[in-house]
Amino acid sequence: MLTVLEGGGQPDDRLAVCDLPLGPWSGAEVQAWASKTGTVWHCDPNCSSLRNRARTEAYLQPATGTMADIRLPDRTHCYPAGELGDYRRAVDAIVAFDEATCAATAALKRQDLTLAVLDDGAHGASAEDSAEDVLGGDPLAGYWERCKARRARVVSEIRRKLDDRLPVMLAAAWVENGRTPRQHQERYVSFLKVAEDECDQRDIDATSGIRSFTNDKVLPYWLAGVARGTWPPNETKKRVDREVERAKQWNRKEGEDFHRSIREAWLATAAAWTRRLEGVAIGHPGEVFALFHRYRLGLGWDLRDLFDTVIPHASLDTREFNWIAAKVPAVFSLFLTERERGLTGLVLDNERMHRFDASTAALFLRNLMIDLGQPDLARHVRERGPGVREPERETTERSSSSLHGFGSGVSDARLTREQCLPALSAAIDGTALAAGAAPRSRRRPGSRQ
Ligand SMILES: [Zn+2]
Repeated sequence: MLTVLEGGGQPDDRLAVCDLPLGPWSGAEVQAWASKTGTVWHCDPNCSSLRNRARTEAYLQPATGTMADIRLPDRTHCYPAGELGDYRRAVDAIVAFDEATCAATAALKRQDLTLAVLDDGAHGASAEDSAEDVLGGDPLAGYWERCKARRARVVSEIRRKLDDRLPVMLAAAWVENGRTPRQHQERYVSFLKVAEDECDQRDIDATSGIRSFTNDKVLPYWLAGVARGTWPPNETKKRVDREVERAKQWNRKEGEDFHRSIREAWLATAAAWTRRLEGVAIGHPGEVFALFHRYRLGLGWDLRDLFDTVIPHASLDTREFNWIAAKVPAVFSLFLTERERGLTGLVLDNERMHRFDASTAALFLRNLMIDLGQPDLARHVRERGPGVREPERETTERSSSSLHGFGSGVSDARLTREQCLPALSAAIDGTALAAGAAPRSRRRPGSRQ
């Protein structure tokens, strides 16, 4: 099977089971077992679902051909133990890996960014891990290299596009965050209002009211799609088509005019939503250097994972908190002003952006811990980002209560931007503060809040 995808002008052949060599399966004999009346066969004698081995059959494998030619019972529960099973699983893993790569390549042609393919094992087991187990010099190695090279191409293209797209994606996530079980935030309400106005103008109504309908059926999905990397016009088309279909189903008596006006209303709504998101992004140009709680941002996991796959940063993980220091798009600062238990984070700098990379961020965090009299915590600062996975250390230290969160310094005892500035200045100069030195002044006259 040869699936032709036009990726970057080059025809692209997706790897399939029928492309892969037999390897250890060539000429091998595979035993299969079933219970007396069972119709499911097991090839692993130790399978926990195999109750008894009342019946046995042997399957002689072809000497030549591909993995598509292997012979197994119709209903096979498990692969053989040992090398044969490992090899078969590696084949499955490679094929699934390449299928995901090719789907991401096709999506990219439509301008949709597939964030999931950026994850090169940041979260433990990946296709790569299971395939690597049996790839040392065996017949799959060359195929695997080809798949990895193809993945690397699409990953680098997605990363390049994220430079432009991420601010709008973050803006969408921020508006989506304004949807709460109680009273929605103003930013989210204003998006609902757009739909209401467009529908009102065309005399379109819903049983529950347009605002409630939009909140239940349309807006959160549209925002989530855009936040995850779908190109806004594509997400719009998907939602508009769905609404027109829904209208046709529920209003059979209405004619073409009505359906046309439904389409127009949602097209106009989504166009206005897109402009608003672009406005939010344009209103926050450039980048900032920030310190924040990794898990209190209200970001979905797919965007939060960008800190493992795309954004170089430094992290400080203790039993009590998980902080990240990183250079991020300026629109990200919208997430840091959320106030549930103190601030979610602090914007520390927006001027000397060319000076910040993962190692400056790590130096800053270490300096900060030393400056705050917590030198033990400095040992737990890790430099992280794409391809950088410093192992986590066992954390036993208890941090002092002054390090539980961020604040403005007005009426709480939380860490403020001012307190971070001495450590930041030293890091920008490349200076490592030494533990045990005289405590530095916590406040600088004239520093901005
Ligand atoms: Zn089994």
